[in-house]
Amino acid sequence: MMKVLLVIVISAHICWGQQTEKVDFLEMNASVEMDTLGYAVKGHIEITFKTLQNIDSVYLDGVNMKIEPKENSPYKIVEDNNKIWITSNFKKNNKYTAEFSYECQPQQALYFVGFESGIKAYPSQIWTQGQGKYTSHWLPSLDDSKDKLIFNISYLAPKNYKVIANGKLTRTQTKANHKLWQFEMLNPMSSYLVGVVMGDFKQIKSKSKQGTPLQMYLETKHADKANSTYKYHDEIFKFLENKININYPWQNFKQVPVRDFLYAGMENTSLNTFSEEFVVDDTGANDKSFVNIQAHELAHQWFGNMVTAASSKHHWLQEGFATFYALEVERDIFGEDYYFFKIFKTAEELKSLSDKGKGQALVSTDASSLTYYQKGAWALILLRDMVGEAVFQKAVENYLNTFAFKTVTTEDFMAEVELVYGKSLQNFKDKWLYQTSFQSKEALEFLKSNAFIQEYMKLVAFRETRLALKIEQLDEALDFPVNDYLGQEAVYQLNNEDIEKSIPLYKKALETNNLYVRQAVANSLTSIPKALKTDYESLLDDESYTTQEKALLHLWMSFPEERTTYLEQMKARDGFMDKNIKLLWLTLNLATPDYEPSQKSKTYNALSQYTKAGYPYQIRRHAFGYLYQIDTYTPTNYKDLMQGVFHPVWQFKKFCRELLDTLMADDKHREAILALVDDFTVKEKTFFNNRY
Ligand SMILES: [Zn+2]
Repeated sequence: MMKVLLVIVISAHICWGQQTEKVDFLEMNASVEMDTLGYAVKGHIEITFKTLQNIDSVYLDGVNMKIEPKENSPYKIVEDNNKIWITSNFKKNNKYTAEFSYECQPQQALYFVGFESGIKAYPSQIWTQGQGKYTSHWLPSLDDSKDKLIFNISYLAPKNYKVIANGKLTRTQTKANHKLWQFEMLNPMSSYLVGVVMGDFKQIKSKSKQGTPLQMYLETKHADKANSTYKYHDEIFKFLENKININYPWQNFKQVPVRDFLYAGMENTSLNTFSEEFVVDDTGANDKSFVNIQAHELAHQWFGNMVTAASSKHHWLQEGFATFYALEVERDIFGEDYYFFKIFKTAEELKSLSDKGKGQALVSTDASSLTYYQKGAWALILLRDMVGEAVFQKAVENYLNTFAFKTVTTEDFMAEVELVYGKSLQNFKDKWLYQTSFQSKEALEFLKSNAFIQEYMKLVAFRETRLALKIEQLDEALDFPVNDYLGQEAVYQLNNEDIEKSIPLYKKALETNNLYVRQAVANSLTSIPKALKTDYESLLDDESYTTQEKALLHLWMSFPEERTTYLEQMKARDGFMDKNIKLLWLTLNLATPDYEPSQKSKTYNALSQYTKAGYPYQIRRHAFGYLYQIDTYTPTNYKDLMQGVFHPVWQFKKFCRELLDTLMADDKHREAILALVDDFTVKEKTFFNNRY
């Protein structure tokens, strides 16, 4: 019996084709339980769908799931080949509801972070990432973004966690050591936008002009960073809602920073998750602008979440629009120069790629982020320039209204623009959407309409000129009131020039009191002449952790007799969330024999412990790097590195693998690592034996 059923199911699977033509999934009511000890998920699903044809089965995607149909279920429900098949004699134009329970141990898309480590300062979190990873790894759902449904999900989590998810929290209920959090949605969405975060969070509340609840979260210990991290929060929301001129489409808007996140941010419907590295204090806020990410992910709530690209071929409709509107927000907050400088830089990148013959068409299935995001934004900038602000605005409004809660193609969007414009845009489409090369001439012409860019380009033209022949121009660029970008450019052009002749200009740059121009000095002047010592030392107190870090390193290298003074001065500083200053300080301390000589082993342990799993990967990466520089690893560090080669963040995984390769090529380290192989886990041993 089982065998026969399997054969039927498999053949149905093979000749299935596009499911969206046969069935429309409408609503999912699910309860999901997080098992934080077994790193597993258990749940119950009630799925309602409407048939568009007479069919004998429908499916949901579900990876490695154990399925149990509801008792007395009128349908056969089985898992096969990562699909959950619901089989019966379904008649056209009927509504059906099927129920089943499931269990799984997600290998991706849902992450249990910090549960093993027990590091108090970094409490455990659970978060999800559906785009590019597939929600079906932890929740039966649809890998195809075309079918949109309403998700009402309740989450059962240990009582001490706060649960944040899509839609409106309608009910909570404590059940012994657990708490149930019920969320409900009003409008349908694609499955990749399902998201949930659990952890130790505090909420900061606000409201938009239209009354949309705005909820910002921070881990409890960072609650004091609310104003600096979410500095422009309300302003961004207000600006975008006005600019797009269509009310924000969801019940509320939430933002949560999470640890070891795979990307900078993700626009789950009504719930933006973002990397914890963007949590900043007042000083950090000067360096790391979270504005761009906030604005980009918020713009996706319309472009991507409300209207969704029908397939990856039209992905630029999501990323291009989100990038375009984030730039508009930044232009409003940081000004015209900032805006034009930023698009000048992306035009340079796109041109260089295109000149190498590596340009990509916007409408394509496998373009790079640079194409989908930046070329996409450029296409919209020049489209608006061509048709005019009013036509562009109206067309975008029509596009959003017509396709709200549906999926779209590039042609759908362009048809709306042509309709309002009243003329064919074939030429634009050919050049900007379907051609691989970047239209740099057009882009340059647009850039040149801005006076600041003209001035900037004049200065850039001196890059290859000898210092003696451009001193006047560089000096002028540093005149009061200095422009951030012209000032920086002038400083960077002093790099590798005769230092004696450059001193007056460096002095002038430091005297501008411009944070960014001074940062350019800290970044590029690594060997500091005596004449600039006092001025350069003042960089240690600039309101920028990037500047402070660079200044400490370069001063320590340039003036050995002052090392203990600098170390004493910078003792209590941490820096960004990745502790950039703290870890540099510990390393320099270890390399300064006469500073706190009796404390050296304590200092070494303080640095060495940061390689441990449970610390954010950014901190671990610094620690591994600095320990390499002082060439001292403990057996624990090697084991931590081995653990890192499986980290879900690919950049860190790559870093650990490359570092391990480097260490294995060195006799001393190789011997030490080989002595530890017996302590490796089975997975680690397999990896290790295959690689070396
Ligand atoms: Zn995006």
